[in-house]
Amino acid sequence: MQEAMRRIDALTQQLIEADQSGAGLEAIAVAHELGRIRQLLAEAPAVIPATGGQRHFRCESCGTITHGAAAPARCAQCGGKTFFSADLEQPRVESAGG
Ligand SMILES: [Zn+2]
Repeated sequence: MQEAMRRIDALTQQLIEADQSGAGLEAIAVAHELGRIRQLLAEAPAVIPATGGQRHFRCESCGTITHGAAAPARCAQCGGKTFFSADLEQPRVESAGG
């Protein structure tokens, strides 16, 4: 999540600078970067594991979190079939600097 936020900020800055300088920015490069950011967000762990072995799975399409021992066959919200594990495997130390 942190990496995705950092890259969104960087891309936003690039767009602002491209606008102000009139230099422009290749649309396809922006599209590729957005695709990478999307992947980072989809895979980003965001939930502390529950006790009792339950895990959390985030729908790749709509972001809905489903609890269970395994990923559901279909997302209850949108019917999507692709899920990413959304558990935090261990506490992360987040830097306040930057
Ligand atoms: Zn879904």
